[in-house]
Amino acid sequence: MSNVLAVDLGGTKIRSALVTPGGEIVAEDVRLTEACLGFKGVADRILAGMAAVAAGRDTCGAGLAVPAYLEPGTERILFAPNLKWRNVDLKRELEDALGLPVWLENDANLAALGEHRYGAGRGFKDLVYITVSTGVGSGLVLGGRLYNGAYGGAGEFGHMVVDPEGPFCSCGNRGCLEGVASGCAIKRKAQELIKSGSGRRMLELAGGDLSAVDSRIVGLAAREGDSEARSILASAGRYLGIAIASVANLLNPAVFIVGGGVARGVGNYLLEPAVEEAYRHVYPPYRGSLKILPAALEGREGVLGAAVFALERLAGSCNG
Ligand SMILES: [Zn+2]
Repeated sequence: MSNVLAVDLGGTKIRSALVTPGGEIVAEDVRLTEACLGFKGVADRILAGMAAVAAGRDTCGAGLAVPAYLEPGTERILFAPNLKWRNVDLKRELEDALGLPVWLENDANLAALGEHRYGAGRGFKDLVYITVSTGVGSGLVLGGRLYNGAYGGAGEFGHMVVDPEGPFCSCGNRGCLEGVASGCAIKRKAQELIKSGSGRRMLELAGGDLSAVDSRIVGLAAREGDSEARSILASAGRYLGIAIASVANLLNPAVFIVGGGVARGVGNYLLEPAVEEAYRHVYPPYRGSLKILPAALEGREGVLGAAVFALERLAGSCNG
């Protein structure tokens, strides 16, 4: 079997890779998504990324991790809020352009698959992968296989309600985890604190520009020892831990893996309070076996998961 194309499509960046059947990245390309170009414009940018990594070499299919809810069975994108897409057929668009089979799956699900096969989840049959980035999402691998639920929507971890009196969420509900533990929530809290007259160090690190205070700045201040920044991250981490404890009680997975750009950027200032709080709230007999680890693939879990997804579908059908 020859190599596959793998793409992790984000709201900001498109990461493309040429991946061997053994999971080795041969070539990589990262470019801006430029979502403002619309569906056709972004599809062209995906194709350009793929062409850059293939560089004329043979490939036998492509896997794509997309920030979207897909129609089960057809892989049609029904809703991709970060890209402002509704009901578009990216699979067909790319297959027509490439002349190769293309498979799409939700990005958090494929990140779960990537970590399961090549990362912190290697050797575990059951895992829950959690991504903390602009939003909060998750993917489930149960019994060694990706679990999608009856209608393709399993794993909406970010919309579990952790505080019924909490802030309104982009989904329209109130008190979702995403509203208190995502990159957006961390940014909002830091900016609110500064508006109330505190958070001086965070504002300084942002060059005095309130609008530039985001989760990255909060992480930088926390690393320097700023107690206000640490307290914002600890609060987000505690909510994350409460949600992890509930999922642990329900599924009793072997391991939780926490990844995503924000989690990677702020590190233990988020993860340690999450672990402490999860232990505090989990059903006591499960405390001894509760395992929560950081993701190991450093931002490549999505693209490697997309490669695994394509390779599994190609297995036995391509001898190029
Ligand atoms: Zn929500």
